[in-house]
Amino acid sequence: MNNIVFIIMDSCRLDSFMNANTPNIDRIGKVEKRYSYASWTAPSHYAFTMGMLPHASPTEIYASEVYKEEFALWTERTGSKELAFRDFLPELSLPKVLSNLGYETIARVSMPVLNQYTLINQHFDDYKLMDNHNNFAGMVEEIEFDEHIPKYYFLNLGETHYPYMLEGDDLPRISGVHGVFKSLGGSKPKNTASSDHFFDSAQMKMLHDQQVTCVEYIDGYVGKIMDKAPEDTYFIVTADHGELFGENGYFGHGPIMHEKCFEVPFVEGRLG
Ligand SMILES: [Zn+2]
Repeated sequence: MNNIVFIIMDSCRLDSFMNANTPNIDRIGKVEKRYSYASWTAPSHYAFTMGMLPHASPTEIYASEVYKEEFALWTERTGSKELAFRDFLPELSLPKVLSNLGYETIARVSMPVLNQYTLINQHFDDYKLMDNHNNFAGMVEEIEFDEHIPKYYFLNLGETHYPYMLEGDDLPRISGVHGVFKSLGGSKPKNTASSDHFFDSAQMKMLHDQQVTCVEYIDGYVGKIMDKAPEDTYFIVTADHGELFGENGYFGHGPIMHEKCFEVPFVEGRLG
């Protein structure tokens, strides 16, 4: 069976990904435009843990058929010929299904809203909220593959989430956008803009550009996983939702009804 590495770049907007130079992720295949099932982190990750990946919004087809086709794809992703939709019942849990197939299921998450006390943690063998928001490097360092036990790595990355910080960066933060769950984890903001001030267009552009920089940084570490990964490793790289950078007066994601909040990059496959 294939090892599976499922990487979710939190809040990574489609055009931020497309504008980034990503030689490692490009090895997986052609990046597609897909749509997230939700506009924010928790429900979007819940869909992932059901085994449902961002959709292509196909027309003239019943939703039930789309779901059926999606579940059938796990046969190819795992390389297990015995896998069928009935194996997802009744829990509708991908980590449970993979565990039944003999996988060791490991989750590393960056967003406190996905902490280990939430439902998302169900059925994983090993689940951890990282000590800070932007430690993909730490996740990568821990990753190990085993000749005998197939591994499922489910990785939620915070680098692409506001404030798009990499080590040494010092960007402004606004309370309310990111502050609700910060007491559960993550570092204290170094400087905090007040919530009655909204970013101007120059700041929006700077933040958007910074998200592109974060994608390029992530790509470097995806390359390090690829260096360790055996040939039979199946990669999925996507985002849980997009991000708004000033369009129609919006910033961020969540309670926003806008196409840019749902568009996400999506690529999957084995290394070419
Ligand atoms: Zn998110």
